[in-house]
Amino acid sequence: MTNAHEMAPEAVLHEFGSDAATGLSSPEAGLRRQKYGPNELTETPPKSPWRILWEQLTAAMVVVLIVAAVVSLFLGEYKDAVAILVIVVLNAILGFTQEYRAERAMAALKKFAVPAARVLRDGKVQEIPARELVPGDIFFLEAGNIVPADGRLLQAANLKVFEAILTGESVPVEKNAAAVVAANAPLGDRENMVYKGTTVTYGRGLAVAVATGMKTELGRVAALIQTVEREPTPLQRRMAALGRALGVIALVIVAVVTGLGIMQGQDLKTMFLTGVSLAVAAVPEGLPAAVTIALALGAQRMLRRRALIRKLPAVETLGSVTKICTDKTGTLTQNRMTVTTLLLPTRETTEGLKTIDLSGAKAATPLLPPASLLLTAGALCNDAVLTEADGQPAYVGDPTEGALVVAAARFDLRKPVLENFLPRVAEIPFTSERKRMTTIHQVHEECRTILPQLCEKERPQYIFFTKGAVDGLLQICDRVWVDGRAEPLSEWQDLLCRANERLSRAGLRVLAVAFRPFDALPEAVAEGEIERDLIFAGFVGMIDPPRPEAKEAVATCRRAGIDPVMITGDHPLTALAIARELGIAAERRVLTGQELEALAAEELENLVDEVSVYARVAPEDKLKIVAALQKKGHIVAMTGDGVNDAPALKKADIGVAMGITGTDVSKEAADMVLLDDNFATIVAAVEEGRVIYDNVRKFLKYLMTTNLGEILVIFAGMLSGMPVPLAPLQILWVNLVTDGFPALALSVEPAEPDVMRRPPPKPQENIFAGGLGTHILWVGGLMTAICLGIGYWLWRSGNPAWQTVLFTTLAFAQLAHVLAIRTGKTSLFTAGLLSNRAACGAVLLTVALQLAVVYTPALQGVFRTVALTPAELLLCFALGSLIFWAVEIEKWLTRRRRSAPARRAG
Ligand code: ATP
Repeated sequence: MTNAHEMAPEAVLHEFGSDAATGLSSPEAGLRRQKYGPNELTETPPKSPWRILWEQLTAAMVVVLIVAAVVSLFLGEYKDAVAILVIVVLNAILGFTQEYRAERAMAALKKFAVPAARVLRDGKVQEIPARELVPGDIFFLEAGNIVPADGRLLQAANLKVFEAILTGESVPVEKNAAAVVAANAPLGDRENMVYKGTTVTYGRGLAVAVATGMKTELGRVAALIQTVEREPTPLQRRMAALGRALGVIALVIVAVVTGLGIMQGQDLKTMFLTGVSLAVAAVPEGLPAAVTIALALGAQRMLRRRALIRKLPAVETLGSVTKICTDKTGTLTQNRMTVTTLLLPTRETTEGLKTIDLSGAKAATPLLPPASLLLTAGALCNDAVLTEADGQPAYVGDPTEGALVVAAARFDLRKPVLENFLPRVAEIPFTSERKRMTTIHQVHEECRTILPQLCEKERPQYIFFTKGAVDGLLQICDRVWVDGRAEPLSEWQDLLCRANERLSRAGLRVLAVAFRPFDALPEAVAEGEIERDLIFAGFVGMIDPPRPEAKEAVATCRRAGIDPVMITGDHPLTALAIARELGIAAERRVLTGQELEALAAEELENLVDEVSVYARVAPEDKLKIVAALQKKGHIVAMTGDGVNDAPALKKADIGVAMGITGTDVSKEAADMVLLDDNFATIVAAVEEGRVIYDNVRKFLKYLMTTNLGEILVIFAGMLSGMPVPLAPLQILWVNLVTDGFPALALSVEPAEPDVMRRPPPKPQENIFAGGLGTHILWVGGLMTAICLGIGYWLWRSGNPAWQTVLFTTLAFAQLAHVLAIRTGKTSLFTAGLLSNRAACGAVLLTVALQLAVVYTPALQGVFRTVALTPAELLLCFALGSLIFWAVEIEKWLTRRRRSAPARRAG
């Protein structure tokens, strides 16, 4: 087959049996999907359950246990061997379930992260998952898209594509649909082709897919893109390091204990098993796994609240965010633009302006010719498509543009009809930097009816329409269209600027519209040559109401010590009006893009804490703002939707992309995607992040206190001259049962009431901060004192149940501990015992299992226990629960200390 780049577009369409006007039919696309497979790059498949199980069984600690079981077998200790193996299996099941859940949670996230493609099928434009694309499909491209498949261009309007991923070329290349390229042209020179995985940075295009999936050029290099990344998070890394360090310390202690026992003349066999059991119990091997699970399940909970996590570290960073920099349009507001006001210069009123209020206007009211021109220009200099919903005009496309198309249609200026008289021949697209857009149209004879004044004398051959932000647009105008005549702008400038301010102050987005008749099409459609000497036609004011939930979300942020910052391309006064309405600290400074540009980096750093609204900014300014905030020690979340937002999203601690309106490029760069584009969702995700951080800390608190208690009991016991306080299997039991279920239950602990009423943790704060280390030491010490105290006393008085009492007290103490630390500061009685049913269930189950080990004759032999009298059991219970009361007192003291300064201040 000839290469697509050597062929004319029609030939390629013919070759692929496709049609540029209708695309493929759905049945044909279905057949091709079967033939060619999904448009995906094959990646390493997710971990299989067998693989997870195998990893569980080959973990270091399990291997140690298996060796211990085998040794016991050789020593003739069959019961011990079997018990150890049972423990190994239980341990593996527990670990397997946890990791399997985490894997599944991650897989679910991945499913959500699929990019979409806009294609033409059955004659209709449709949005489909990019993996459904087949060769022969006609697909659309616009700035911000990641090209979904290799394609031969059919149309390209100023299309520029960044192809570094394939060619290494560091600047975007301009595309040309009309070109036919030599067969041996290198990839970078094939200007009539687009390739999967490259990004559109500018313009628009239409292409027919010639290769999909692994058959694409990208498939050949098999680079992996568009996956949910899974690098270890800082917390995971820290936990792994902590686990290793503690593991080494634990092993040293174990060696000392074993050596001590042997020197004391204890039985070698017992000491070997004690050493192994203690090693297994003391090494916190579950720590990194627990963090992974907490993060993965947290990410799943965030998804339920419409926040898709793309990079796992975001889950933990979210909790520490101190500034949320957010776009205005669509995130804080509804992005439901409606044109409410037209403003036209006129000599007929004393004010010099005529206001047309569209908010209640009936459709098809006769319009003044200048208003017709304004609406016609607004509808034609526009990429939105006019549709209909419930008999009313509606649109598909950008809301700002859609509002204009709809407003025109309400006066019977329907875009498709207008396009017949004024077909578009060229354009300069909108970008957030330029904040305007220009289209060039041929003027047909029929235009006299819609634009009578313009065609009054001699009908021009061409007309340019430009619409965009007022400030920039007025600069390129030199005349004003007043009652059908052009007058010099200088006479009108002040009046127009004041009118713009008035509309903006009312919270309206104001667009200026201008035009310029031309008799011949200029050779080059370059910005500088066309966008000058324009005639200003009027203003269009549109409202975009704030999202109802945004105000509450802003207030929540405030209470949580997080500063919301608005960054918008809109006019400062419009921005300020909305900021005020939402309660964003608008009394503070507003900085414009222009002012920002004039500031040196250090100057901005000095200002940055005082500014809560940035207006008329370009995407690259966002990068400057993030850098300055980070320099000041902030943890910054930053939203973005456009192509050029990607660097700022990457630089921010949490890059947030918009799921609905965001470009592929911004989503690729982001750590988190808002499925509903809603500011409130960021705040919800921050809350989940804090809960997860809290729960990881609780888990750490629990695990380390428990391990410390176990080691100290054995160590101090042996120093005191008594026999080894716990039998090897008792140690393993305490480790498996008390560490297992209750600790797991901590990962689903609900949010504490004050989670969004306290400041974020300090950026440099250690995970042990806030008294965690002290808690571990004193509770571990107290646990040892209580258990060993009673054990020693009973042993001295010759009670054969001494070891069972010690063992059971230790188990109960750990359960009491887990209940007490479920809440950080509030008393468990305030939070409610049943607020975490999993924890209650885990504690009850563990109590039942402990009783089974103590009272079942068959297990008594294995676990070296004896049946306790009711009084002894009660004693274990009472002593164990002391830990609960002690920790409740600790929490009470913390509460008192925290509220004391507040009382004094009050
Ligand atoms: P925010 O940053 O709050 O989300 P935004 O992303 O809508 O706002 P931009 O899209 O960068 O901001 O728009 C900035 C300005 O450009 C707007 O205030 C408006 O004046 C102008 N503008 C927006 N859309 C268009 C368009 N389609 N054509 C011409 N001008 C536009």
